[in-house]
Amino acid sequence: MKNVFVLAEHKSKSFENITYELISAGRSIGEYVSLVVLGNASNMPNIEEISRFVDYIYIAEHEFLNEWDADAWTSGLYDICSQTRPDLLLIGKTNLGRDVGPRLAYKLKGRFIQDCFGMQIDDNNVFTAQRPVYGGNIIAELEFEFNGCTNIVVMRTGSYDKGIAELDTAAKVENVEINLDDDDIKVRHIEFIEESSTGVKLEDASVVVVGGRGLGGSQPFELLENIAELLGGAVGASRAACDAGWIDHNKQIGLTGKTVSPNLYITVGVSGASQHMAGCSNAKNIVAINQDKDANIFKEASIGVVGDWKTILPSLIEALKNRNT
Ligand code: FAD
Repeated sequence: MKNVFVLAEHKSKSFENITYELISAGRSIGEYVSLVVLGNASNMPNIEEISRFVDYIYIAEHEFLNEWDADAWTSGLYDICSQTRPDLLLIGKTNLGRDVGPRLAYKLKGRFIQDCFGMQIDDNNVFTAQRPVYGGNIIAELEFEFNGCTNIVVMRTGSYDKGIAELDTAAKVENVEINLDDDDIKVRHIEFIEESSTGVKLEDASVVVVGGRGLGGSQPFELLENIAELLGGAVGASRAACDAGWIDHNKQIGLTGKTVSPNLYITVGVSGASQHMAGCSNAKNIVAINQDKDANIFKEASIGVVGDWKTILPSLIEALKNRNT
């Protein structure tokens, strides 16, 4: 039986969805799952919110542990892992996780798997994880045997269901003493400027409406916003549309952008390059609108609409409005 730990991410004193997804992943392979919660006096989340989903909770509080100091989190986690010696630590592929995961793996000298979306442990205790490589064209399987080190797996957001069943008893909670020195912090967080946004967060949206180069400019994205609003979803974009400056880069989906796992993924004027599809391969249903019947996106889509978005989108918006009234 392996000792599986999950790194909690939290914001505004609440746990982020990725924390629940990682617990779900942990529970799929380990009988017991422990949660590691780092924070400082001003940002510590309410532990009760999550205490019925894990078996143990390790809490470390330190003034340096704000949301963005990767050096502080790496040192804090190193301290905790050295004291508790988990076999596996699951970290989310988030801004923080991408920063902390490799640094911590280097310090702990364990195995490190990045960008994973599935994992198993077999009867011989061999751990296997799946991750996309070569722009999502191939799924690589990576495996290792446990050898007493703490191994780290960085999981894609949306890979596991965040809806997990409560356990019969609340977690045992332990406070862990960590030593953070000013010298540990090489890169210092100065200020966090939150992007002003309304509506659903792209990573959490169950409907994502995505625009590509085929839109030809920034203005058509307003139509996509309309559709997203009518469906309670969020707008995303291909890299080509972001590079053209039609929409902010934080909306980019794909290999070098965000990973999303919505129920419905609507693409408009997106060709379906593998680097784009790497960011939406977990979407349950893809609806593609493209005027080129041979576009790659149609190989991935469950519903394909061949045609010019200029005629299709206004009818779609009209139909959605009628449906809502
Ligand atoms: P295009 O490929 O130009 O496709 C535009 C589509 O619009 C065409 O299929 C066309 O038929 C259609 N179209 C045109 N006019 C209309 C119309 N009026 N009505 C309907 N359809 C129309 N890309 C990403 O998206 N995300 C990434 O994270 C990413 N990372 C990358 C990383 C690397 C290392 C590399 C090399 C590339 C990466 N790319 C990424 C770029 C990727 O390879 C593609 O170039 C990009 O996804 C293409 O974007 P697109 O589909 O919007 O544009």
